[in-house]
Amino acid sequence: MSVPEIAIIGGGPSGLAFARLLEVNKIDYVVYERDATSKVEGQGGSLDIHGKTGQLVLKEAGLFDEFKKYARWDATKTLIQDKTGTTQLVFGEEQDSPEIDRASLRKILLESIPPSKIKWNHEVGSIEKFDSGEISINFKNGSSVKGFKLVVGADGAWSKARHLLTSAKPQYSGKHYLEAKISNSNPFHPTIAEKVGSGNLIAMGEAKQVSAQAQGDGSYRIYLGLTVAEDFATNGPVDLSKADGEAARSHFVTNADFFGTWGSPLKDIITNSEGAFRPWPLYHLPSEALSWTPVPGITVIGDAAHVSTPFVGEGVNCSMYDSLVLTSQIVERGLDQLGAAVEAYEKEMFERGKDLIERSNGSASLLFAQDAPKPLLDVLNASKRDV
Ligand SMILES: Cc1cc2nc3c(=O)[nH]c(=O)nc-3n(C[C@H](O)[C@H](O)[C@H](O)COP(=O)(O)OP(=O)(O)OC[C@H]3O[C@@H](n4cnc5c(N)ncnc54)[C@H](O)[C@@H]3O)c2cc1C
Repeated sequence: MSVPEIAIIGGGPSGLAFARLLEVNKIDYVVYERDATSKVEGQGGSLDIHGKTGQLVLKEAGLFDEFKKYARWDATKTLIQDKTGTTQLVFGEEQDSPEIDRASLRKILLESIPPSKIKWNHEVGSIEKFDSGEISINFKNGSSVKGFKLVVGADGAWSKARHLLTSAKPQYSGKHYLEAKISNSNPFHPTIAEKVGSGNLIAMGEAKQVSAQAQGDGSYRIYLGLTVAEDFATNGPVDLSKADGEAARSHFVTNADFFGTWGSPLKDIITNSEGAFRPWPLYHLPSEALSWTPVPGITVIGDAAHVSTPFVGEGVNCSMYDSLVLTSQIVERGLDQLGAAVEAYEKEMFERGKDLIERSNGSASLLFAQDAPKPLLDVLNASKRDV
């Protein structure tokens, strides 16, 4: 059976951006995606798309006009509060980093490639490389496929492709986000809308956070940031398994280890949020892992290459930018020089990926400081003075 030149594992932002750029450049490819359909329920809130990276990729992909239909330039305003719920700083109003719902970004990218190019319900179980140099993609359903000139792992933090390049594994950061929501019909919606508007609120202190993030449909995603053990969701003191989340909510607002001593405006956000809390244990690759020797026939992009904690809000931007760098190298050198193209891409990506991981880890120490938001305000005020 003949196969396209390039296989992409994963139809997230990096895999689909890469697919679109290959499409534009008339290079044949196929995307294998674990999800059964294009619906992205439960994949996190909105993403801010930066001018020099994410937006540039969308421009190069011919999708910027479509992006503008969904992008929210009025969503960048962020209130920084302390644990009492007192606003200490308002920033971000002029930033060129509009928010877009994850589902809208996926829709734009998906609609830009022929439906036949993406194979839904194709979860990769393993990828192996034989002595002959051939790479086999083995699916969980027992089938496998080989013969590609290049396999690109765009399959996120727990990539099945990465082990062929490095033995490094994502490390737990010590932080969790717990996600809930406040929908438009929630009686508390007018209260939070008045406070947060179309932007964001982040309250911090005692190595914890309460944040609210406006979504494109007017609802809010609520995130509780915690410094807890990796197995908090399954073995922690709070039962997160109940669908209504009420017992957990009550525990969080009454217990001093969580938000029991926080101000009422913030406890009200927790109390009035809806549904079960979805746990996001946050991982990052050790930055020194980004230095492998290129392996013919395979590479990784996006979180598969450089998963980081989300504390500088650049993961998706860096991920989509990978797809632009890799495509540019392939187009410049041609399909006969894929090895050289991958080597040049990886060399450039290593520096960006390391920088992202290290800056995000540095940001965590400000955002989750015991005396937050003071250290963050000190840094922001010092940078204002330096301008
Ligand atoms: C709570 C949270 C908040 C975040 N907020 C922001 C933010 O505000 N701004 C920002 O820039 N970044 C943010 N990020 C980071 C951002 O989500 C990622 O950097 C980005 O999604 C990476 O894109 P990706 O396509 O590389 O990987 P992913 O988005 O993880 O996509 C991987 C795709 O591969 C598929 N897949 C996985 N395994 C397999 C398999 N075995 N077989 C087939 N398919 C598979 C998945 O279903 C998925 O579609 C956040 C991350 C988290 C966890």
